[in-house]
Amino acid sequence: MTQSFDHIVVGGGAAGCVAAARLVKAGRRTLLLEAGHSHHHPLLDMPPGIFKMINGSKFMRYHRTEPQAHLDGRVHEISQGNVLGGGTSVNAQVYMRGRSADYDERDEMLRGNNAGVRWNWQAVLPHFTGMEGNNRLGGELHGSEGPLLVSDPGHIDDVSRWFVQAVQGLGLPYNHDFNGPSQRGVGFYQFMNRRGKRSSAAYAFIEPLTNDPKLTLKLNCTVSRLLIENGRVTGVVYSDASGAERTSYADADVIVSSGALISPKLLMLSGIGPADALARYG
Ligand SMILES: Cc1cc2nc3c(=O)[nH]c(=O)nc-3n(C[C@H](O)[C@H](O)[C@H](O)COP(=O)(O)OP(=O)(O)OC[C@H]3O[C@@H](n4cnc5c(N)ncnc54)[C@H](O)[C@@H]3O)c2cc1C
Repeated sequence: MTQSFDHIVVGGGAAGCVAAARLVKAGRRTLLLEAGHSHHHPLLDMPPGIFKMINGSKFMRYHRTEPQAHLDGRVHEISQGNVLGGGTSVNAQVYMRGRSADYDERDEMLRGNNAGVRWNWQAVLPHFTGMEGNNRLGGELHGSEGPLLVSDPGHIDDVSRWFVQAVQGLGLPYNHDFNGPSQRGVGFYQFMNRRGKRSSAAYAFIEPLTNDPKLTLKLNCTVSRLLIENGRVTGVVYSDASGAERTSYADADVIVSSGALISPKLLMLSGIGPADALARYG
């Protein structure tokens, strides 16, 4: 039996979890396909668990670059979460947004081919504050009611205090909020956790919806290509947890949120991308 969906979200990382949650809350039948594992593991929950994750773990995958001329020919490994929540389930949990100028610059760059969608600071700030559940900061740059739990560090080591004091001694200002009006200065940043437990995109956005009939969540399912009919993406082909090949269709659209490296790869494997690069592979 072919199950039908309004939307298919490919990759349940930071972006995919938020997109799927927004769609489900809007009453849309949404299939979320995630290549990695469940986010329920004590080492993922606790902040120091990252040190176990970084050097070889089933929750992490490593992309290898071509030998880099400017790194003396070295090959660089770029890690990516292999788990629901993606990077947010394995990362260092530091809560630091970009500078407002970064978003304005990005808006300028993207304006040409995406005229209806704004990415400037004014447009993205309400999304940041809406998702933020900060335990100290408020005001127009912060939210305190959102599902993503942001907290001050539970413990600050003496060495960290001495470092922050020493840098102030060198003349840099103390900054109590790196998501405030200026990122300049030295201080203690906040983390995406609460009482020592990680607040990933999986916990913040998907976990509250796991019993919602509009959400179909499939883990250990790797999408291999998008299906295109009459110039429109209509579905995906993926291998499920047993390795069997499956096909699912979306009435509305397919959202590719598999990370900065895999999203373009998936598009190119589906025949979408720079014509000269695709032509090399027929
Ligand atoms: C070790 C590490 C430490 C970091 N520390 C911080 C930090 O402290 N603070 C911070 O803000 N950011 C940090 N980051 C960065 C942050 O986690 C990422 O920027 C963010 O997760 C990117 O989100 P994304 O949705 O673009 O991609 P991802 O989070 O990578 O999500 C993509 C998802 O797609 C899945 N996927 C991939 N291919 C397929 C496929 N073919 N089919 C189905 N699913 C697929 C992946 O398994 C993954 O879950 C860190 C990242 C890493 C790896």
